[in-house]
Amino acid sequence: MEHLKYHVESLKLGKELESTSDVKVYEKSLTHYENVSLVMVRDQAQRWILATGNGSLFEELEGTVITDSGKVVPLTHENRLVLNRYFAYTAPRAFGTKIATMGLGDRLGLASPGHIETVRGHQVRPILAQQSIRELTLTNRTMNDVIDAASFAVFQEGYTEGFGADGDHLKEEEDIKMALSLGMSMLTLDCSDHIQNRVEALTEEEISAEFEGLPEETKCHYNELYLNKSFNVEDLSIVFDKNTVQKFVLLYRNALDYMVHVHDTYIKKANRDIDFEISIDETETVTSPAAHFFVANELLKRGVTVTSLAPRFCGEFQKGIDYIGDLEQFEKELREHALIAEYFGYKLSIHSGSDKFTVFPIIAKYTKGILHVKTAGTNWLEAVRVIAKVNPGLYRRMHAYALEHLDEALKYYHITPDMSTILPLDSVSDAELPEYMNNDAARQVIHVTYGLLLTAKDKNGNFIFKDEFFTTLHENEEEYRQSLVKHIGKHVELLNLSKELTTKTSL
Ligand SMILES: [Zn+2]
Repeated sequence: MEHLKYHVESLKLGKELESTSDVKVYEKSLTHYENVSLVMVRDQAQRWILATGNGSLFEELEGTVITDSGKVVPLTHENRLVLNRYFAYTAPRAFGTKIATMGLGDRLGLASPGHIETVRGHQVRPILAQQSIRELTLTNRTMNDVIDAASFAVFQEGYTEGFGADGDHLKEEEDIKMALSLGMSMLTLDCSDHIQNRVEALTEEEISAEFEGLPEETKCHYNELYLNKSFNVEDLSIVFDKNTVQKFVLLYRNALDYMVHVHDTYIKKANRDIDFEISIDETETVTSPAAHFFVANELLKRGVTVTSLAPRFCGEFQKGIDYIGDLEQFEKELREHALIAEYFGYKLSIHSGSDKFTVFPIIAKYTKGILHVKTAGTNWLEAVRVIAKVNPGLYRRMHAYALEHLDEALKYYHITPDMSTILPLDSVSDAELPEYMNNDAARQVIHVTYGLLLTAKDKNGNFIFKDEFFTTLHENEEEYRQSLVKHIGKHVELLNLSKELTTKTSL
């Protein structure tokens, strides 16, 4: 702790805080509350908050007292909760339907400073914490780890515009309960297990027979509301003939019941604002605009208010690469989806939204700045790009390992990389290694093998890559920040969310 004494003294005396050779000061974090002053610093090993003064905030922060009224505070979960109590901006919050939000899911706990710099001052708010159960499992992290990382990043950057935390793609009630109890401000309910994809393969007669077998009450409800009815959304006319109604009922009935159940049991009773997102995208069934309308209208009829809804769009939204599919078809359907979302008063949500540069202008045109877009793995790919630049040896070993273990990752991620486009490692010079991150196939391979890479251990139980990976990124934090600002900044720009924030944007 001795090496931090100088900075603690400076903080106490209100002197200008400067980084020294072994301690970096995050100047934007300098914060005062009553007569307590706080600042975040980082030494060779980790970040700390330095605290001076007296009073409840000073007492509640747990740390080591090193001078009279000076304390070195580690970034623990308990200390994060203390910050949350005194500085509201360090706790996740909901944003509702009036401003765009961007899910930035940080797999490493290191990306948020770059994400914050990208969105600061623009017409979009960051959902900094956003990890699915799959991502948590694959990286050995907990929901608390993820919120802690986001919260400390916000403190570090002095970012007071607010951020969200998303319990992403939750399916099980246990996980939903957990996410809400930990203070997640957004919940993305993944209904894919309840969507009956098999219905797509049935004939009209089979659909009809199955529908007739449903309880009388159910049939009446849907027939009365939809059979041979048409609905107008702006210039769109959505017509439900017999087969369409029956098919949608078979496809979505269970999923709808589950959405209503989760809403009534957890969201409504949470006693605070929650951004509630419905996801019907992780399924084989492409959501037609009529199906989208059907689901939305049912939710409305049954008293469920959602903040955003994620349909499964036509074409493919594969992880980490551009859109694959028919652009004309996509534009037609996206326009209709956007009109439907606007009609029902929620945000259209775009999942696996990173790197879809070709369709961003289309999305921007029709959502008009009111949408939610999720990116996740792309910040990991930017981290790997930094590794390729500054630690070629590590990159080479990771690259080889990823190729060797790709089959394991393909069990839970759907990608179709053209492996023949990945140049053999021994034919590529060190200086050219970062180019791999511009190759779609290599991007995808690295994108899906993150869990394997970050948890791989040798026979002595030591991490093969993780420690060196994190040390390298810490030593190059500015480089990582800049690469995120550039890459995610391109998303913000093309989605037309880069407008300056007016002084008081009401939420
Ligand atoms: Zn999704």
